Amino acid sequence: MNSIDKRAIVIGGSLAGLFSGTLLRSIGWQVDIYERSARELDSRGGGVVLQADVVVAFQRAGIATDKLGVDATERYYLQKDGGIEQMPMRQTLTSWNILYRSMRRHFPDEHYHQGKVLVQVQPEGDKVTAIFTDGSRETGDLLIGADGPTSTVRQQLLPTYAPQYAGYVGYRGLVDEADLEPEAAKIFTERFVFYDFPNSHILEYVIPGENESLVPGERRFNWVWYVNYDEETELPRLLTDENGKRRDYSIPPGMMAPAVEQEMRDYANLVLAAPFKTLVAATKEPFVQSILDLGVPQMAFDRIALVGDAAFVPRPHTAASTAKAAANAISLVEALVDRRHNVPKALQEWEADQLSLGMHLWQRGRSLGDSSQFTHGKGRIEG
Ligand SMILES: Cc1cc2nc3c(=O)[nH]c(=O)nc-3n(C[C@H](O)[C@H](O)[C@H](O)COP(=O)(O)OP(=O)(O)OC[C@H]3O[C@@H](n4cnc5c(N)ncnc54)[C@H](O)[C@@H]3O)c2cc1C
Repeated sequence: MNSIDKRAIVIGGSLAGLFSGTLLRSIGWQVDIYERSARELDSRGGGVVLQADVVVAFQRAGIATDKLGVDATERYYLQKDGGIEQMPMRQTLTSWNILYRSMRRHFPDEHYHQGKVLVQVQPEGDKVTAIFTDGSRETGDLLIGADGPTSTVRQQLLPTYAPQYAGYVGYRGLVDEADLEPEAAKIFTERFVFYDFPNSHILEYVIPGENESLVPGERRFNWVWYVNYDEETELPRLLTDENGKRRDYSIPPGMMAPAVEQEMRDYANLVLAAPFKTLVAATKEPFVQSILDLGVPQMAFDRIALVGDAAFVPRPHTAASTAKAAANAISLVEALVDRRHNVPKALQEWEADQLSLGMHLWQRGRSLGDSSQFTHGKGRIEG
């Protein structure tokens, strides 16, 4: 596709920024991505359920999709009495790292700028300017706010909208296939496995290995365990890392405070089904993320668009956050082509469907969370 005389400034170089950046390039736009982190983003990549929109976005951007994930063919629901309920269900499971690195390799280095922290956006006539902490400024025809749940772009445009703690956290972990004892590994391989109990559940699936390998024996078990914690009395301790630093929403792998990590391990031994006890025990560097709720009433602001988690953070039970970021980008480039690259008209056309998609996922996530009775009490088995 020939280049056209239009430039997009993308704030945030994670998945939503890369979906938008690669797809805008596919329709001839010049794109620069500005990412706050000075390093490659790969520190906590866990599992992601691969959804159709992600595959479509990759195909349209010209990125190979044949080696993206691991297939699971069924679900196992472990029972308290040791029994197993089975349900056939085919799904492809991938990793955040593989999605990020596939797009990052495809996006030219000279247009991906690390260590650039946005402080302000300044619309002016038919242009919009991004201003960074180092004093530099970049001007384009379109600015994409892909800067995640704590979005600076959103804080400026919708200052009263911020993520709310949903009442529970997700403990997470990754275990190399080679590091799990064979009896547990047999249960967890090639399937989605759940264990539900009052006010909580834990799930597992196999994802590609750290080196993106899909070869059996070189992949990883990925688990997520939802547990309720009170926002005032318990959460601050959980979100304080091993160096005593209080983090906003998550503690990365290897940085949980030792006492908190030990409590999590003891609690796992008390309440989980036996295979999950083994899986948690085999996890070298568990991590924790608070579960958030965020929804906005507006995503288009003349020449500025909010995409991905900057606009809506659905709960992880929808398994849709990444696919939503892909859908936002697909629909954005379709609207730009439809509207002959007239940005305000395209964003206006784009917004309605994307708002209803975000709203739908946000509400669905809340109702799935509520039906699991999260936030209605500490997740302990009482009977
Ligand atoms: C390192 C990392 C690992 C993740 N791992 C997983 C995972 O394993 N499983 C999963 O389901 N989800 C994961 N996520 C979240 C997942 O990417 C999102 O839920 C979803 O895909 C939408 O992504 P997003 O790009 O909208 O938001 P995010 O992924 O949160 O990305 C926002 C980006 O914007 C950057 N940013 C923020 N403020 C500024 C600013 N002022 N200036 C410039 N840049 C800024 C951030 O550094 C970040 O890279 C991860 C996110 C990150 C950043």
